[in-house]
Amino acid sequence: MNTKKIKTEISSTAEQKASQTAGEDISFSTDGMDKTDRALLTEDRRAADRAAKQLKWERRMRLKKEREENARREAERKNAEIRSVHERFMRAALEEAQKAAALKEVPIGCVIVKNAKIIARGYNRRNTDANTLSHAELNAIRDASHALGDWRLEGCTLYVTLEPCQMCAGAIVQSRIDEVVIGCMNPKAGCAGSVLNLMQVPAFNHQVKITRGILEEACSSLISRFFENLRSEKADSRKP
Ligand SMILES: [Zn+2]
Repeated sequence: MNTKKIKTEISSTAEQKASQTAGEDISFSTDGMDKTDRALLTEDRRAADRAAKQLKWERRMRLKKEREENARREAERKNAEIRSVHERFMRAALEEAQKAAALKEVPIGCVIVKNAKIIARGYNRRNTDANTLSHAELNAIRDASHALGDWRLEGCTLYVTLEPCQMCAGAIVQSRIDEVVIGCMNPKAGCAGSVLNLMQVPAFNHQVKITRGILEEACSSLISRFFENLRSEKADSRKP
């Protein structure tokens, strides 16, 4: 058997073996081979091992990439699902805010949800009731406690169109609400991260999960339109 022929035969066997059984030892009978043939055989076995390892590594990397891509897609799908639930309840909070607007109150609305159902609603009635306590959140908390017959609102999520003030943030912590979902932030008075974050003070015995920016544009434009109208009404009343 000439050297060239042996090389070709060994190479093709080694490649075949590499693609079939990654990492397995390849056995050849070396009987009747001279030193040169054996050296060539050893070199080809090493090459086949390297090729097998490379194939194995590539397959592992491909599977890892696929797993990561699947996990990313699943997380995206879950987030979209959660967001769509949040938007549905925020729309209900916006309807409450419209009730405040109809009374010429700052349009802030709130709903409280338990087990995917609205159990309480509230809107800002501070001027109508001539009462500092009549904020949307406090009215909704009162309504929820009445519905559940308990001051503890564990397992509840509160949806509010504007970031809660210090009074409402305090009441939310006191009522042990699990999560607050906020439409738009209130940089001048908000206490869910703007001026303060009273809902996540580690020293308190209860912290609230906060989700921000749900239907943000609709919530903020409702309030800015309200103040624009108020300004133009005032300007009109000053006209001779
Ligand atoms: Zn408030």
